[in-house]
Amino acid sequence: MKVRIDKSACIGCGACEATCPEVFRLGDDGLAEVTVELVPPELEGEVRDAADFCPVAAIHVEA
Ligand code: SF4
Repeated sequence: MKVRIDKSACIGCGACEATCPEVFRLGDDGLAEVTVELVPPELEGEVRDAADFCPVAAIHVEA
């Protein structure tokens, strides 16, 4: 599974980093970024939760 952030939508709230810090972090620009190429299977649930929690739907999960 892959995941990407739409930086034009992200408001830098940090919820994704709080939900799954192994995959998301806030970058120097204050916006979220993805730190892994492929999401490990054991983190897929947290990544989907983060996508659900994102207040602006900026997290896009790709199969
Ligand atoms: Fe950006 Fe959404 Fe992450 Fe908040 S939860 S930092 S808006 S991607």
